[in-house]
Amino acid sequence: MLALCARSGLVKVGVVAVEGTKIAAAATHHARHVCIDNTYGLTYKVGMAARSREDTNRVESSESRMTYTEFLRLFPDNTACLDYLRDKFYPAGSPCPKCKRESRFHRIKGRSAYSCQFCGHHVYPTAGTIFHKSTVSLHLWFYAIFLMSSTRCGMAAKQLEREIGVTYKTAHRMFKLIRSMLAEEEDGTPDFGGGGVPVEADETYIGARRRGKPGRPAEGDPVKTPVFAMVERNGRVRAMIVPNAQRVTLLPIIKRNVKPDTTVYTDEMRAYDLLAREGFKHRRIAHSLDMFVVGDIHTNTVEGYFGLIKGGLNGVYRGAVRRHLMQSYLDEYSFRYNHRHTINRDPMFWNFLRRIQADRLPA
Ligand SMILES: [Zn+2]
Repeated sequence: MLALCARSGLVKVGVVAVEGTKIAAAATHHARHVCIDNTYGLTYKVGMAARSREDTNRVESSESRMTYTEFLRLFPDNTACLDYLRDKFYPAGSPCPKCKRESRFHRIKGRSAYSCQFCGHHVYPTAGTIFHKSTVSLHLWFYAIFLMSSTRCGMAAKQLEREIGVTYKTAHRMFKLIRSMLAEEEDGTPDFGGGGVPVEADETYIGARRRGKPGRPAEGDPVKTPVFAMVERNGRVRAMIVPNAQRVTLLPIIKRNVKPDTTVYTDEMRAYDLLAREGFKHRRIAHSLDMFVVGDIHTNTVEGYFGLIKGGLNGVYRGAVRRHLMQSYLDEYSFRYNHRHTINRDPMFWNFLRRIQADRLPA
């Protein structure tokens, strides 16, 4: 089926009409399809209908465009989820891995496989994804992704355990794998800042419940993890756990990520002493003198990001996050932060689904 995606404006071969209806001919006042480039799940309003009490469709003004009802309509069962992956990895017209001809792949009854229309070669859309060889149904996986993407601050594995009836160990592993696909890896060349975009850099300590002052860990307080983050003003964030907050650690990270000549804002910690000599325009704010904003010199953006994480982790995990899991939480929060502007236009759920890749086997 050929159709024009209203959002991307591209002609899409093989648009999936989810409710078994053709988009234009849909009788209901909402017709939906999944754009084949896996970018958009769209709702077309064909006409208005009065809202009744039984109507579980989204209220028009609702900010969330991916309600549970819409999720169920788009992905009513395992087959819908599997078809989504088939369309992502083996869309109609893509070359068969074996005979190399441009083929269509048809579901093999009773199996999670599809076969090439010419040579019958079997392809498995879950191969290499985080769902690979999982005993949990694909539908529950998609639901877990829906749940995680629907919250602003994340969700505890304990709650997933209750929601979908798996063991805590399984729920924990599922969330960990979903987070793993959100990680955005450094590509080796600096890509932050540049072009007049300023970057704020700061370090903090997250993860322990400890009486007394917040901040640096006290003696015998090993669970508090040092975290370093770089944030573009009005832009992206990149955050990582670090062994310590010393110059020898932080300076190479900044050089690896931030373009030369960028204006970098930090506090007065000595770890940042050499930034100007390394080719950055360095501005620092003297927190120790109780100064927090002087003109455009401040680190409020990066501190806001840290506040978001700490608030979220306190709410979801009561602040008790162990070090070996911290990076995956940072990845999750950074992903949300980096896609925050798309929340209203394009539900976070699709941002999550778009990250499903076939080249990462579950660890
Ligand atoms: Zn083939």
